[in-house]
Amino acid sequence: MRVTAIYPGTFDPMTVGHMDVAKRASSMFDDVIVAVAGSTSKNPFFSLDERVSMATEILSDLDNVTVQSFDGLLVEYAAQANSKVIVRGLRAISDFEYEVQIAGVNRHLSPDIETVFIAASQQYTFLSSSIVREIAKLHGDVTEFVHPLVIDAFARHHKKDV
Ligand code: ADP
Repeated sequence: MRVTAIYPGTFDPMTVGHMDVAKRASSMFDDVIVAVAGSTSKNPFFSLDERVSMATEILSDLDNVTVQSFDGLLVEYAAQANSKVIVRGLRAISDFEYEVQIAGVNRHLSPDIETVFIAASQQYTFLSSSIVREIAKLHGDVTEFVHPLVIDAFARHHKKDV
């Protein structure tokens, strides 16, 4: 039986930390769906289309990884996609409480779906999309933290905003 895992998130934007988790998940599971959240309380900087198209291109080297958008309950989306595994990344203790709470709720809603945590690689434990957005907003250098495509996308937004 093929095991499909879903790696959900806002990916606003995708960072090298996310790329690392997606790559590691791709070697653990037969198929990985990176699921970009449409409806999120986070009020994303990049549109859903931008987040999906950037992630698709960034991860195009990983043959068993696809990128999709989703709305609504993650467990329902997972059931539709025939997936019984949710992958989440864990950076620090600060992630732990929230992530375990969400995993508990999802388990309650759908007991046959397991959440699997992948520990962030040490060099990325400090890295988050919000930190990248903050640095980019102040015109700092984020080349170490994101794919060049994301740098271009920030530049396009800056032009529009000026
Ligand atoms: P969400 O809004 O669902 O938290 P994010 O895009 O912020 O979405 O993160 C998606 C997932 O990736 C989360 O499980 C998060 O903990 C994980 N993640 C974020 N940054 C990193 C990183 N630098 N290393 C490993 N995992 C990460």
